[in-house]
Amino acid sequence: MDISVVVPLYNEAESLPELEAWIRRVMEENGFSYEIIFVNDGSTDDSWHVIRRLSESNPAVRGVSFRRNYGKSPALNTGFLRAKGDVVITMDADLQDSPDEIPALRSMIVDEGFDLVSGWKKKRYDPLSKTIPTKLFNATARRVSGIRNLHDFNCGLKAYRNKVVKHIEVYGDMHRYIPYLAKNAGFNRIGEKVVQHRARKYGSTKFGLDRFVNGYLDLATLWFTNKFGIKPMHFFGLLGSLMFILGLIAIIVVGATKIYNMTHGLHYILVTDSPYFYISLVLMILGTQLFLTGFLGELIVRNSPGRNHYEIEEEISHE
Ligand code: UDP
Ligand code: MG
Repeated sequence: MDISVVVPLYNEAESLPELEAWIRRVMEENGFSYEIIFVNDGSTDDSWHVIRRLSESNPAVRGVSFRRNYGKSPALNTGFLRAKGDVVITMDADLQDSPDEIPALRSMIVDEGFDLVSGWKKKRYDPLSKTIPTKLFNATARRVSGIRNLHDFNCGLKAYRNKVVKHIEVYGDMHRYIPYLAKNAGFNRIGEKVVQHRARKYGSTKFGLDRFVNGYLDLATLWFTNKFGIKPMHFFGLLGSLMFILGLIAIIVVGATKIYNMTHGLHYILVTDSPYFYISLVLMILGTQLFLTGFLGELIVRNSPGRNHYEIEEEISHE
């Protein structure tokens, strides 16, 4: 099969017939064999009904329905597990992404050798309250992930080589960072294509402004787990040791000064009257705690199934 189109959706009943007809037209015009996997993320409207109906008239339409709303990432992940096409396309259900982009996206994977191609909504039709924070968000994501050439990490319209989607796990709200997940899994031919964007035709956005707070927290998590996920001691141990040593130096200075002054008949103060005493106390306590956190992290890693999971690309063996 040439293409799997994965569509996560939450209360998008009005858009679905139009979307299906449009995708079908593009596929037929280009002679692609395809499937559309609609993942109904616990919609409370008619969406699942509509999907059932569409699947009756078009055998390429598949559907999965969650019992409740889990979020876009779990919906995408579910679609990814089922996708059979050589190229997997994801797109939003709200008709903001255009299916006309599919042939060009596919060609970048098949002919140009990209593992992942992300859309770039260069000209956006979204409110200002969204476009400005988005710019900032993308600049941060570029820096942290080291994927310098992407302008629009969270674009819903993306194309993947099939093996990419089988080797990444999108959970929580991590759909915003799929290119980063792919990079961490060793797929580094990541490209970008400017795509058409349109204003939402039906319904309303499913994400509020909290997306930006959560987005940053998730980015911090990904950075940390990628860098120190299986060696937490390298992070906590270093930080803890540094703090402890600073505290130790401070307390030695405080004590030594007092003893020196006492034995030389100079004016001296109580250790507890020195601000450095308290600073050192805090540093040493925090340092120890960080160190212990590192140990606990290491104990958890010892039991984690992922601690020896590698992505093996090729192997030579004479057996
Ligand atoms: N979506 C989903 N589950 C959710 C929220 C959103 O499957 O809990 C789908 C939604 O139906 C749409 C896509 O994710 O197909 C993008 O959502 P939306 O258009 O609301 O986001 P925006 O375009 O405002 O970023
Ligand atoms: Mg949208």
